[in-house]
Parts: sequence; structure tokens; C-alpha cells
Amino acid sequence: MKILLANPRGFCAGVDRAIEIVERALSKHGKPVYVRNEVVHNKFVVNDLKSKGAIFVKEINEVPDNQVVIFSAHGVSQLVRKQSKDIDSTIYDATCPLVTKVHKEVVRKQKQNVQVILIGHKGHPEVEGTLGQSSESRQVTLVENTDDVEHLNFDLDSDISYTTQTTLSVDDTQYIVNKLKDKFPNIQSPKKDDICYATQNRQDAVKVLIQSSELLLVLGSSNSSNSNRLREIAEKMNIPAYLIDGADEINPDWLNNVKTVGVTAGASAPEILVQEVVNYLYDQGATEVEEINGAEENVHFSVPEELRQ
Ligand code: SF4
Repeated sequence: MKILLANPRGFCAGVDRAIEIVERALSKHGKPVYVRNEVVHNKFVVNDLKSKGAIFVKEINEVPDNQVVIFSAHGVSQLVRKQSKDIDSTIYDATCPLVTKVHKEVVRKQKQNVQVILIGHKGHPEVEGTLGQSSESRQVTLVENTDDVEHLNFDLDSDISYTTQTTLSVDDTQYIVNKLKDKFPNIQSPKKDDICYATQNRQDAVKVLIQSSELLLVLGSSNSSNSNRLREIAEKMNIPAYLIDGADEINPDWLNNVKTVGVTAGASAPEILVQEVVNYLYDQGATEVEEINGAEENVHFSVPEELRQ
């Protein structure tokens, strides 16, 4: 059996930065620090930070007054920002700068009286944060699929723009955007795609990888949007694909008669988990590993000034 490794894979710049913010906040302030939502959607990362003293909460009302509060890489609504200030927290914002860019876009469009449509998955923390940038008088409208687009009933002459969650399937989103453009020919597009470079690059890498793979293993937690999209790419091509949190979740039966197995990792899954899978596959009879070339990434986001010393 041969192992093919996708490139790029694993941590993106936004995830690196978010984890660094929690670690630096812990060394600056000591434990505990409170993190609203999973800082990134990965079990291994969350458990590691828990063991170092981070407490993960769903809502700000679970945090006592005067504590350190960190917002996750997915971003938060304006309401959550206000709630955190109201309890006199020391706030560190680990929102990925590429999510912040979308938030700013929403606010700018709303100031211009433009109706914003957000393409995304209902209930995902990033979507809740982006919807939560709306002004009270005009809500951002969420669409998840082309059916939702059918049901939109905005005036054709009104000013409308669209924006997207950063971690969607590039192909599925294009389909929805085309539908929006058919229905609202004057709709305004974002200046630059909102699906982030890391999501795009990891999807492109999987498209190359699966041309030579009989099975795809994606390291990523079940609530990780970008990891799920990687698995779906293989499934759409009828190649068996599994989302796993680690080597211990591999069912040996999946490997029966498989000569080439592709391995990748979502943007929130650390490389150590990939290496554990490689070792496991060697134990199961793999004899060779090949890195498949892909886009080079040189993106880096720095942590807030106050945490740099
Ligand atoms: S997946 Fe993209 S948007 Fe999300 S944290 Fe990484 S770089 Fe930022």
C-alpha cells in the first residue's frame, strides 16, 4: 500500500494565530482564560488547551466578571462583544482576519443601505457571528442552497450584495452564486472571494490527490466545516472518504484491497495527527509515502500587540 499526502494540508494561518493567542494569554495572565466556543473546531487542539488551563464556554454569561475572554477564530456577533465588555473582561480577539474582513464588508454594505445575502451553513459559529454584524433595522439574509435563493423575494431594483462563509465548498458556492446572479442580475459581488485561501488550496489539493487514491482519510473533527468539504469532494467522485479525529478511528476494513490511500487534514487539524495516521498505515502494510505537490502558502497573521512580549 502507498500513502499519498495532500499539500497543502492542516493548519492555516488563522488557526495558528488563534492557538497562539490562547497560549500567550495563558502565559501572560495565568489560568484560567475563558474561550468563547471552541477556539478552532478540533478535538485534539481543544483538549490540549484545556489541559493548559483554557475553559471553553458557549455563552458569555458562563464567565465570571473581570476574567480574560478570548473570541474564537470563527468570530463573534456585536452582541457577544458587548456582553464581554459588560462583565469587564480583558478581551483578546482570535477572530481570523479573513473572517473580520467579511464582517467589515457586511457593516460597510449596510451603511450604504445595501441588502446583504450571506451564503453559509445555518448554526455554524462563523455564520452566527457574521449575521450578528447586522444593524437592527436591516437583517442579513442567510441562504444555504439554491432552494433558498428561489424563495428570496427582494425587489429586483433594490441594492443587493452577497458574501459567503469562508470555509464553503468552492464548487457548490459557485452554483449558488450563479443562481443569485440569474435572479438578481445587479447583485454586487465581494471585491475578492470570501472563501479563504486555505479552504480553496486544501480543496484543490484533494482534487489532485483523489485522482490517484482509492480511499481518502481526512483528519478533522466532525464539526469542522472545511474538513467536511474535503471529504465531500471525494464522495462526489465515488471514492470512499472518512473524516477522522485520529488514527484510532480508522477501521482496518476500510483498507481491504486498497493499494493507494490519500491522506489530508482540515485547516484546524495538527500535523502530528497526520503523522500518527502515516505510522498506523505503515503498521498495516504501507511501504511508501509520497508528498503530492500543491500550492505554496506563506500567509502569516500576527497576534495582538499586547500579547507579543
Ligand atoms: S480556514 Fe480560512 S478563514 Fe478559517 S481560520 Fe483558516 S484562514 Fe481563517
